[in-house]
Amino acid sequence: MIRYSCDMCGKDLTKVQEGRFVLKMESCAVIPTEELTDEDMDADHLEEIGELLSRGEELPEPIPSARSFSFDLCHFCHAKFLANPLNVQLPKFDFSEN
Ligand SMILES: [Zn+2]
Repeated sequence: MIRYSCDMCGKDLTKVQEGRFVLKMESCAVIPTEELTDEDMDADHLEEIGELLSRGEELPEPIPSARSFSFDLCHFCHAKFLANPLNVQLPKFDFSEN
């Protein structure tokens, strides 16, 4: 039997009657193509890499250009996520009595 638990609060969702929400997220790099010049296209990057390797320098670790995520959420955490998907600190309005 496959067991499911909420990835935010840890609640066991295996036997929850109302089910669970599956949240799928994808992150990918978007490179502004209009900023590429003919010079960029002509540059011989293999030569640059060869130079780095011959000097014994380590190549920078490449950042994955795309990544997908899948999370299981309970009803409460799903509602919480929808209210503030990026979990940013929302400004607090302080209404003074006038
Ligand atoms: Zn939860």
